Amino acid sequence: MKKIQMVDLKGQYEHIKERVNQSVLDVIESTAYINGPEVHQFQKELEDYLGVKHVIPCANGTDALQIAMMGLGLQPGDEVITADFTFAATVEVIALLGLTPVLVDVDPVNFNIDISAIKKAITPKTKAIVPVHLFGLSADMDAIMEIAEEHNLYVIEDNAQGIGAKYTSGDGSKKMTGSIGHVASTSFFPSKNLGCYGDGGAIFTNDDDLAHTIRGIVNHGMYVRYHHDVVGVNSRLDSIQATVLRAKLPNLDSYNTARRNAARKYTKAFEGHENIITPTGFCDAGNSICDSCDCHVFHQYTLRVLNTDRDALVKHLNDNSIPCGVYYPIPLHRQKAYLDERYNENDFGVTNELVTQVVSLPMHTELDDEQISFITETVINFVNQG
Ligand SMILES: *Cc1c(COP(=O)(O)O)cnc(C)c1O
Repeated sequence: MKKIQMVDLKGQYEHIKERVNQSVLDVIESTAYINGPEVHQFQKELEDYLGVKHVIPCANGTDALQIAMMGLGLQPGDEVITADFTFAATVEVIALLGLTPVLVDVDPVNFNIDISAIKKAITPKTKAIVPVHLFGLSADMDAIMEIAEEHNLYVIEDNAQGIGAKYTSGDGSKKMTGSIGHVASTSFFPSKNLGCYGDGGAIFTNDDDLAHTIRGIVNHGMYVRYHHDVVGVNSRLDSIQATVLRAKLPNLDSYNTARRNAARKYTKAFEGHENIITPTGFCDAGNSICDSCDCHVFHQYTLRVLNTDRDALVKHLNDNSIPCGVYYPIPLHRQKAYLDERYNENDFGVTNELVTQVVSLPMHTELDDEQISFITETVINFVNQG
């Protein structure tokens, strides 16, 4: 059996090696390293893929979130609601800008921001909601957009884990995640579903004025050369990363299909094991993943294990040369940097439980059946004992 990896970037590279190598060499020869034609082409291709009017490339996914919030003109003291169960970047940039993060609990089935918790957290100071499409599954965007409209709030989608996922509205129409809120951000960190070979990120919006504002912010607040109208940042995607992304973007749907196929096999193997809760596939399919489903792009395949010592399971998997991850082991509201005396532990029942139960299995485009069988058998044997 091939050695199991959490993310197999090398295996994926082998399939696109010739194109990537040649195009990276071409960029080097061209010397257009920053803001070159490759960056511009990638921007256009991603706009087409997502069906959004504007993509603004930038240096990483954390910058993308920060710049989106700067572009909306959020001011110190404004409250921004986001999920307690996510990667820290989301809450970090809120705090960094002097805005007030308001963390709320998540839904136990889809792991995304809980709609009733959002409603409860709204105050006259609330200005924005940041749903995270966690692990590659869209948050409930119909409900979030409805709340935003009612309370006149901005919606900033953190699409770092969800690129290529579709959200099905109540009326049956499908939209790409990142094209629904007022603005969205993504990351091209190597392990993300669309990853480059370094750091990268992008902001998406359909709003022409906001796109203009953001294009200035990413470039030192310049709209006319050497005229600095607003305080900006320096955040750029470089041409070498853009050319890698151009080679990978045409494969993104097939990469996500490969992830979904692996997820379907995992879920099938765990069927009927009452202490193992498999991730929802959405699409009314409950915890199974329907064949035509293009909702979930499985950035992570995350189980909840019940009546089991999760940390001992992690050790057991590692002892069997199976890498795995605990995303995330500590709720953000209990992180030292984000403590807030207004939080009440009783409001975080789901996150507090998830952090003790979740385990994410190896997930990438190159998993084979032998590896999946070995992983699922090793999990099942341990959980049964427990
Ligand atoms: C990866 C990630 C980010 C940050 O992206 P970087 O490119 O690493 O800065 C932000 N939010 C979420 C949910 C992420 O998973």
